[in-house]
Amino acid sequence: SKNTPYQQRAAVVHSFGKIPLGIKRKGLRIVVTGGAGFVGSHLVDRLIARGDSVIVVDNFFTGRKENVMHHFGNPRFELIRHDVVEPLLLEVDQIYHLACPASPVHYKFNPVKTIKTNVVGTLNMLGLAKRVGARFLLTSTSEVYGDPLQHPQKETYWGNVNPIGVRSCYDEGKRTAETLTMDYHRGAGVEVRIARIFNTYGPRMCLDDGRVVSNFVAQALRKEPLTVYGDGKQTRSFQYVSDLVEGLMRLMEGEHVGPFNLGNPGEFTMLELAKVVQETIDPDAKIEYRPNTEDDPHKRKPDITKAKEQLGWEPKVDLHKGLPLMVSDFRQRIFGDHKEGGT
Ligand code: NAD
Ligand code: UDP
Ligand code: UDP
Repeated sequence: SKNTPYQQRAAVVHSFGKIPLGIKRKGLRIVVTGGAGFVGSHLVDRLIARGDSVIVVDNFFTGRKENVMHHFGNPRFELIRHDVVEPLLLEVDQIYHLACPASPVHYKFNPVKTIKTNVVGTLNMLGLAKRVGARFLLTSTSEVYGDPLQHPQKETYWGNVNPIGVRSCYDEGKRTAETLTMDYHRGAGVEVRIARIFNTYGPRMCLDDGRVVSNFVAQALRKEPLTVYGDGKQTRSFQYVSDLVEGLMRLMEGEHVGPFNLGNPGEFTMLELAKVVQETIDPDAKIEYRPNTEDDPHKRKPDITKAKEQLGWEPKVDLHKGLPLMVSDFRQRIFGDHKEGGT
């Protein structure tokens, strides 16, 4: 069934799968949907540095041109303003499918759009992968585990998700995206990879995206109180973005479909996180309690045994090392002469 020229090329490209990362191969063409966003733009940096050609597809809902502007003028870089809910014709070897708002504030803003992005957008990118024989990687989420009854979460856990709640546009959307991915794999032979990403932070996060690390850092820098929702005893595990990007690339290049948890197992309560932010930025930063949001998961921590064993991956940057790297970026964007631009 490898009959079109691009499918033949894909077969050759996929046979490179065992070459270790970091070794230069010639001219892979890679689409990164959501590549102007936080995680996507860091991934694009690594792919360009490796020598590949990258096409970013983004509708700029939460992404910004500024995140990828340093590649403008590079003939191996292209930026397309496009909404993945609409079909798209391209010829590529690999698709990293990240397009989807990730902050609860953003994904709840227009929930119907969020679920369309996750379902129709993922369907379109899988249709594209099938047509050209490209390998497809889905960035799913730890939210597929919902408010988990197993702790820490293993990939075999099916989750505890409210199907009619305010978070379901995102978590049920991602669950359906995983289903579509596996059905294209089983039914149409598409080469697929699934990552379940846990809370990730780092430079280029939107300053006011409502996520806890970006909120606390921006608040501490602006001398505003840190807003702790609920009693602050809920937990999350925070992964630095470079660790995630390494994991995504290993997953794409490796031989295993997944799903794989990609996250940092270091678990913190929101009050402990506030303390680390105080120590890093301003020991006098005040804490202000706010009511928690609906259906907020009580705890979350990845079991990463599978990624360790099958991808040889584990995070290297802990919170105390990663937070200062993000703080200097936020400091520059909040106080520097570097303008916060629109798109
Ligand atoms: P982000 O909001 O910074 O980036 C998402 C990007 O997708 C943005 O550039 C946005 O403009 C684009 N986008 C959104 N809807 C689109 C559409 N319909 N068509 C085209 N582009 C669209 O978020 P992020 O943190 O970089 O997350 C990237 C991916 O990783 C998402 O799929 C997210 O669900 C997943 N993820 C992230 C985290 C995390 O903590 N950052 C955790 C779990 C999963
Ligand atoms: N699609 C796309 N780009 C392509 C191929 C398909 O956007 O290169 C879209 C297509 O419009 C359809 C979806 O992907 O909505 C699923 O395509 P598939 O061929 O799997 O299913 P069908 O078109 O038969 O419904
Ligand atoms: N949170 C908080 N203060 C904030 C933003 C979030 O205490 O300013 C809490 C939120 O209630 C949740 C946790 O931080 O328990 C993580 O929230 P976030 O929106 O970052 O990501 P989630 O893991 O919920 O998708």
